[in-house]
Amino acid sequence: MVYDPDDPATDATARAMFEEQIGWAVEEGVDYIVCETISHLGEAKIAIDVCNRAGLPLVLGFAIHRSGRLRDFDGSLAEACRICLDEGAHLVGFNCHRGPATMLPLLREAAEEVDPARLCTWAVAYRTTALQPAFGALVDNAMPFPEALPGGLSFPVGLDPFQCTRYEMGDFARQCHELGVRYFGGCCGTGPHHVRAMAEAIGRTPAASRYSPDMSKHYALGTDERLLRHNRDYVPHFTAEPTRPG
Ligand SMILES: [Zn+2]
Repeated sequence: MVYDPDDPATDATARAMFEEQIGWAVEEGVDYIVCETISHLGEAKIAIDVCNRAGLPLVLGFAIHRSGRLRDFDGSLAEACRICLDEGAHLVGFNCHRGPATMLPLLREAAEEVDPARLCTWAVAYRTTALQPAFGALVDNAMPFPEALPGGLSFPVGLDPFQCTRYEMGDFARQCHELGVRYFGGCCGTGPHHVRAMAEAIGRTPAASRYSPDMSKHYALGTDERLLRHNRDYVPHFTAEPTRPG
């Protein structure tokens, strides 16, 4: 965050910070480094260089705000990904700020320029949209007392109504996988149930699948013959006639 492309002195400051953090990681014997939420290509290049010198593979995530661009680079994001791979990043892609709906288009565009197997992503688990592509811009029109939101913004602590379901995050994983991306996950707002659903969506059965809900045992919606008949018969009273507006 100290990096400022208009102030060359910050190159050395950012480099020193990367060297310090990556140095600790090297001492502890890590397998690779994840450098995330980077918005400047110049800063990414410094991180790549420090990792190269440390002999560690780097997974690099760019954070793309509403503009859809990096803060110091006029070229496309796909081009920026290509540059980072050429400089020595092991994987490059996008993390944070965008939920599945507005993250996938970035990946699709980048996949036309670089091998999708060299792309990575971890999206926020929020319903970002074409009009509000980054979660900092989400506006909660249903909030009954919006004055309670700091600065009138749902970001970062009033985002609950925009939360993706496990099914949406699972679908995100499936689409990443189909695209050929092999390193994907969740960023802000992601819970363990999302991660489990993402693994299951691509055919995996992680240890946590043991706790995936078995709806056949639900007291009223389930199908298990041992469930009480009067509860199952009552189901139409709470599932019929949806009250969804419109
Ligand atoms: Zn995040």
